[in-house]
Amino acid sequence: KTFTEMGLDPRLERAIEKMDWLKPTPIQSAVIPAALHGRDVLVSAPTGSGKTAAYAIPIVQHICKSDSDVNGLRAVVLVPTRELVHQVASVLKGLCKYVDGIQVAALTGSFTGGLEKNGRRKKGNGLTFGQAADIVVGTPAAVISGKNSQEGTNLSKVEFVVVDEADLVLSYGYENDAKTALSRVPVSAQSMLLSATLEAEGMDRFKKVILRRPLIIKI
Ligand code: AMP
Repeated sequence: KTFTEMGLDPRLERAIEKMDWLKPTPIQSAVIPAALHGRDVLVSAPTGSGKTAAYAIPIVQHICKSDSDVNGLRAVVLVPTRELVHQVASVLKGLCKYVDGIQVAALTGSFTGGLEKNGRRKKGNGLTFGQAADIVVGTPAAVISGKNSQEGTNLSKVEFVVVDEADLVLSYGYENDAKTALSRVPVSAQSMLLSATLEAEGMDRFKKVILRRPLIIKI
């Protein structure tokens, strides 16, 4: 299938064109239709395969097609490094380019909004932005941390959750933080787990926490 044949929202299709992505990569051809049908997906794929768009396109499509009056965070993407947080957020922002009002927030360990002299957070800073976002990309620690609000990011209305580079999330010591974040996401949320390898230590435990009857895709 081409992107056009996938039945995507025209605004999303236009953003994909703008990225100069002419046709889906093999992983995108396998993952996107399944995700659009609501399936949980377990993917083993290396960087460079187009894996980011394989989950970013279904996230944006999900938000486009459903009730835009829903308040609160709709989708969360957990990744192992600060660099990847910004990389993934930038892909999501590109895909949302023509959809008014979708906010993408990048949360990393350090607080980005700045503090006033008395230590209070400035108005209009990362806190406010993060709380108003529709999609949050963050390291597990940043997402659950009180730096973004008293109890961390509110995940109670999340409908779509992704863990990318899960092998690194585990090997960088984020297993517990990631599980804490996942435990705050409703069980009804659709989920995706992506990893360079599915054989990493702890992967089986991780899969059980996040996935329900997943489609398994190996590239
Ligand atoms: P990733 O594996 O997500 O890190 O993506 C690797 C590179 O492939 C990035 O530079 C993307 O912009 C690019 N890319 C993703 N999807 C496509 C596509 N369908 N056609 C061409 N390039 C793509």
